[in-house]
Amino acid sequence: MPRVYMDANATTPLLPEVVEAMRPYWMEQFGNASSIHQDGQQARAAIERARATMAELFNCHDAEVVFNSGGTEGDNSAVFGLLHPGDHFITTSIEHSAVLQAAHRVEQNGVEVSYIDPGPSGLIDPEAIRAALRPTTRLISVMLANNETGVLQPVEEIGKIAAEAGAFFHIDAVQGAGKIPFDVRRFGCHLLSISGHKMHGPKGTGAMFVRRGTPLESLIVGGSHEHRRRAGTENVAGIVGLAKAAELAMHSLDDGTFTRLAGLRDRLQEEILRIPGTGVNGGWAGDRPVPRVANTTNIWFDNLEGEALVIALDLKGVAVSGGSACHSGATQPSHVLLAMGLDKTRARASLRLSLLKTVTEADVDYVLKVLPEAVEQLRAISPVAAGTLG
Ligand code: PLP
Repeated sequence: MPRVYMDANATTPLLPEVVEAMRPYWMEQFGNASSIHQDGQQARAAIERARATMAELFNCHDAEVVFNSGGTEGDNSAVFGLLHPGDHFITTSIEHSAVLQAAHRVEQNGVEVSYIDPGPSGLIDPEAIRAALRPTTRLISVMLANNETGVLQPVEEIGKIAAEAGAFFHIDAVQGAGKIPFDVRRFGCHLLSISGHKMHGPKGTGAMFVRRGTPLESLIVGGSHEHRRRAGTENVAGIVGLAKAAELAMHSLDDGTFTRLAGLRDRLQEEILRIPGTGVNGGWAGDRPVPRVANTTNIWFDNLEGEALVIALDLKGVAVSGGSACHSGATQPSHVLLAMGLDKTRARASLRLSLLKTVTEADVDYVLKVLPEAVEQLRAISPVAAGTLG
């Protein structure tokens, strides 16, 4: 049985070039980048080369790149590093928990937080952000691409609103990195977080754009690493791997990879939608398509449990994610889909298919063979279909 991985928004494998780039930095060139001897300076040079690559990805100065441990740390740093009691913070109800949980914590410590809901299309209306502004608004944080629906948010317009209001603007760009071209100046943000493992780099690596002059307090203190923005001995191999992944991602953005990927995603989506009782979450605003990253679609299926479909597909060799997340041992319908107005049953009966950029026609053919069969089998025995599930 083939194994087809369609859960790229959860994580991606390292590309061979990334492994090769990292290899020397574990054994031969193991130096500590803070040491003044040659071994240390080799490590320092590797980090600074990687920084220049990340600056190219972000379109910023090298000194505005801070290496860290990934998306969660970047998101936490933005919230904890800028907000103080009495400040007002605007974010959205569809952010990743790395932003939402940080928001809940600062809320307990005297920060007022406004959570903006999306429309049914999954899009945040910039005017809703404007309407939420207060004289005390210090930070706005909105994601670039939603991890569940792939919907791209109007960050440029939000950046302009932030600038007019004199507020800092953070973008969680974890799901946009390597999928759409970046430009932090065009986005108008002060902070932007990305994660290595979502773009074929190593897990536990990430980077943040921190605009020069932004008074961001460091989340992790200790040594004077990363221009005093993030203490801790640098993960040299990880940083080199992240930069290699970024370099490869920049090539992919230019060589037609994403047009091919969008074509395969669209074929997959169209064919699945032929199954009766299905629809796309976040694909459309009325009859207007909503901008999405090329690799993601999120589809609801009437009369079945999404989790049962995830398991059935796994048994047939296909890895995807459902519309529920496990919190404290119980599965809860996705907060993103609920915020878009789906009812709990439909949110639970949703599936996220997120394609790797290395996906093949044969992978899509295989999923299109096994998915309709699995849906039919599950509907035949479904307590949801039989109306026996509360
Ligand atoms: N932000 C978004 C939108 C994500 O999808 C994720 C991971 O799923 C994160 C943040 C957290 O990133 P990391 O896994 O690198 O901590």
